[in-house]
Amino acid sequence: MKRVIGAKEKEVACMGTLTNNLHLMMDSFYNPTAERYKILCEAKAFPSDQYAFASQVRAHGLDPSTAILEVFPREGEYSLREEDIMEIIAKEGSSIALVLFSGVQYYTGQLFPMQNITQKAKEQGCICGWDLAHAVGNVPLSLHDWDVDFAVWCTYKYLNSGPGGIAGIFMHEKWNNIQLPKFAGWWGHELSTRFQMPPTFSPIAGAQGFQQSNPCILALASLLGSLRVFKEAGMLTPVRERSLLLTGTLEKLLVKSDYFVFLDQLRQLYPQAGSGKPGFTIITPADPDQRGAQLSLLILPAESGLMHKIFASLSDYGVIGDEREPDVIRLAPNPLYNTIHDCEQAAQYLEQAFKLIGA
Ligand SMILES: *Cc1c(COP(=O)(O)O)cnc(C)c1O
Repeated sequence: MKRVIGAKEKEVACMGTLTNNLHLMMDSFYNPTAERYKILCEAKAFPSDQYAFASQVRAHGLDPSTAILEVFPREGEYSLREEDIMEIIAKEGSSIALVLFSGVQYYTGQLFPMQNITQKAKEQGCICGWDLAHAVGNVPLSLHDWDVDFAVWCTYKYLNSGPGGIAGIFMHEKWNNIQLPKFAGWWGHELSTRFQMPPTFSPIAGAQGFQQSNPCILALASLLGSLRVFKEAGMLTPVRERSLLLTGTLEKLLVKSDYFVFLDQLRQLYPQAGSGKPGFTIITPADPDQRGAQLSLLILPAESGLMHKIFASLSDYGVIGDEREPDVIRLAPNPLYNTIHDCEQAAQYLEQAFKLIGA
C-alpha cells in the first residue's frame, strides 16, 4: 500500500471505511480557533465529504455556511482553475484551518495539482489533507514527499478490493509525536504488548496507532490480492502510462463522434437547459496531467433526462460505465484489464445509443 501512495511504512494504516476515517482524521487535524476555523474544499465535493465537513464544523459549535469555503468553477466552466484555488488560499489563508480537496474529483474527473495546493496551504499555515478515493491506484502519488499532513481513501475504486473493502489513512511522520490517537482502540496498541491486554493504551507510533478494531480478514485478503496485481504490473508508473494511452484514445474517438459538442460551443447551442439537439461533451480537463482514467460525459441537452436513456443503452451493449445525476456518464478505461479495442467499442456503442433514441 505504501508504494501506491508514496509513503513510508509507518505513515500508512489499512483500516475502517473512508467516511469513518475522514471523521477520525478531522477529529485530530481540524482544530478551529477564533481566527482560524474555515475548511476549504471544492464545490460539489462527494456528498459524504460534505456531510462530514458540515457535521465536524457543527461539532465545534460553528456554522457551516461561514466555516466551509468552497471553490467554484468560473461561469460556463466545469473544472477549477489552479490559479483560482491558489488565490483563495492566499487571500483567506489566515482564516483557514484545513484545506481538504479530493485528489481526483468524482464528478468531473479533474485531477488537482496536489503538490502545489499542499505547498500553498502550508505557506499559509493551514493543515492540508486529501480525500484520495478516486486518486489512489489511478494516478501516482508521493504523499510523503509532497509534505501532505494526512489523507484518507477507500480501496474499492481503482484499487479493486470489492465494494465496502477496507479503507486507509496516511499521516505524515512529522506528526508522530504530536497527533496521538484521540479515540483509542486495542488494534492501535503497540504490537509487542497488544495481547498482554494492558489496561493503559500505548499507541503504535504513526498512522497505525489510529487503528481501533481488528480488521475483516476477507477484506484484507481481497485488497492484498489486488495489490499483488499492481506489483506484478510494475506499480503505478507503467499503469499510469497505459492509463494515459487508453483514456487519450477513448477521448480522441469520442471527440470524432457526430454527437460530440465542444465545450466552447455549449452556450451557443444550448442557451437554456432542457432543449437542443441530443449530443454530449466532455467536462473532464483535456490536459492529461489534469485527469486520471476517467472521462465525464455530459449528456445534452442538460436536464432533459436523456442521460438515463443513453446509459441504459450503453449498459445493454455491455459498456460498464457509471451514471451520475443529473447528466453525467463516467467512463474510465481500467489500465489493468481494458484494451484499445474496448475503447473503440465503447465509442461505437455510444454512437449507436444516440442513433437508437432517434438523434
Ligand atoms: C466513494 C467516495 C466516498 C464513499 O465513502 P464510504 O465511506 O467508502 O462509503 C466518499 N468520498 C469520496 C470522495 C468518494 O469518492
